[in-house]
Amino acid sequence: MLMNLILLGTPGVGKGTQAQLIEKKYHIPQISTGDILRAEIQKQSDLGAKVQALMGRGELVSDEVMLEIIRCRLNEPDCENGFILDGFPRTIQQAKSLDTLLEELSKTDIKALNIIVPEVEIIKRLSSRRVCVKCGKTYNLYLNAPPEDGKCQVCGGEIIQRDDDKEVTIRKRLAVYLEKTAPLISYYREKGNLFEVDGMQTVENVFTDIERIIRDS
Ligand code: AMP
Repeated sequence: MLMNLILLGTPGVGKGTQAQLIEKKYHIPQISTGDILRAEIQKQSDLGAKVQALMGRGELVSDEVMLEIIRCRLNEPDCENGFILDGFPRTIQQAKSLDTLLEELSKTDIKALNIIVPEVEIIKRLSSRRVCVKCGKTYNLYLNAPPEDGKCQVCGGEIIQRDDDKEVTIRKRLAVYLEKTAPLISYYREKGNLFEVDGMQTVENVFTDIERIIRDS
């Protein structure tokens, strides 16, 4: 099945979790721009050095840099049958540039899924999120607590709190989302390819709703 998906929603709605489930079931890659940038920071590349401070403050990396990353990634062979964009686009400019890029690649058939969760819940979720520095597996202090020794149960890597998951930065990220990213909802609605998903359900039920949208629309 050919399927190009964009996952929208504030940080912490569960885009990464759902993207991983979609990837597993439909065999199309999750493209998380946040993960790509964090990998560059880990590698201590020039790009990593350039974006580290911005990301730590919860601000956005420039549209030009992000577009270049996405252009390279979408040209890889594993994107031939589709892809799941998680964390991109994040500005109207990125969405417009993505439209142009998808036209060049003849992949104009896209669905944007907006996962909706109220702000109080987002702050709770993000401030209790922990992540493995090595494989990216996420944990949650309440729902899915990390092992007591602080080592990832999948790969043994160290489990940490992302700098940008500290409460002041979460508030900054939400403000940036409202100003820069929320307008994308109307952008995709006007194009007729926006689908809304209630994110205040179990992970399994959110995924069931997404499967239904993929199947029926
Ligand atoms: P995420 O893991 O999606 O929450 O992204 C973490 C951080 O990476 C964001 O707060 C931004 O600083 C940066 N980032 C990720 N994707 C983008 C994007 N599409 N445009 C600009 N900055 C981004």
